[in-house]
Amino acid sequence: MPCFVLKCQNNPEEIFLVREEPRVETAVCRSHHELLAEGAEWTFDPESRRIIMGNDLLGTGEYVVSTRPMSIQWNRADPPGVKRLNLEVRRRGSGTSERLELVLSDDARDGIRSLLGD
Ligand SMILES: [Zn+2]
Repeated sequence: MPCFVLKCQNNPEEIFLVREEPRVETAVCRSHHELLAEGAEWTFDPESRRIIMGNDLLGTGEYVVSTRPMSIQWNRADPPGVKRLNLEVRRRGSGTSERLELVLSDDARDGIRSLLGD
């Protein structure tokens, strides 16, 4: 079994701790272990049990909110109850941030609140 970083065919020589509780470990090659130790961005796909790094992160479709939510706005054209949440996000694997505006109905806000447990 090669290194657990997606597409890497090197021999695994080091153990990388994906998470503490419950404990998940993978075996990675020396050069990926070095990158991970240096703080390179990564994510873990539990189904394939692969670590995803570098340009492959673009394929995850994940966005990271890169600052505290900036503001909530109301637009005159929106129906009552609708709020606009402005965020700065960065696509995983990309170095640039972009502005994202979420248009949230009452129902959507309630759904998000309950998902987040607030
Ligand atoms: Zn590797």
